[in-house]
Amino acid sequence: MKLLEQMVVNDGKVYSNNVLKVDSFINHQIDPKLMLEMAKTFYEQFKNDNITKILTIEASGIAPAILVANLFNVPMVFAKKSVPSTLTRDSFYEAQVYSYTKNVTNNIIVSKDFLNKEDKVLIIDDFLANGQAVLGLSDLIDKAGASLAGVGILIEKSFQDGRKILEEKNIRVCSLCRIASLEDGKVKFNKADDEL
Ligand code: 5GP
Repeated sequence: MKLLEQMVVNDGKVYSNNVLKVDSFINHQIDPKLMLEMAKTFYEQFKNDNITKILTIEASGIAPAILVANLFNVPMVFAKKSVPSTLTRDSFYEAQVYSYTKNVTNNIIVSKDFLNKEDKVLIIDDFLANGQAVLGLSDLIDKAGASLAGVGILIEKSFQDGRKILEEKNIRVCSLCRIASLEDGKVKFNKADDEL
């Protein structure tokens, strides 16, 4: 998606050789017009897949996911990173997400009320790096007996392993911006999935 690539070039900050900061339009301050354009692109890509639910993980996935859900006219559910006191032990599905950047494993949960075996789910997230967040969400979908239609990613770092890991599991990935390299402070792109 050209608009997103332009914003990454103009407003993104290369933080290190493998981390991109997009705080001014995605991760802290949010550009609503850009979010809506991205949501429309995901809708075009998955509109024939009978999607019944959009699933993401708090916090940064929520903004794009809610706009996508609105276009599909289905609910959006976000996995929580802590268990609310109102949920009893047997009332939620749980999965693990390993963070390479923080070297910790976090549990994520979703209430059994909001994912079920009739659901055809589209996962939306901000970044795809090593694929661990998406694998955790996919595990929640499996535990609910639901099916995964695909994954919509705003920014994929193609030089990390996430894309390959997901494709090896036959998971369809649609990334609106695919970064080939962040080396020497410069962003280089691969062709995005919506442009193929
Ligand atoms: P993964 O689970 O694919 O390894 O990493 C995905 C998650 O890590 C994303 O949801 C995002 O929150 C975070 N993340 C990974 N790489 C970056 C990055 O370069 N920049 C930012 N802002 N977040 C990242």
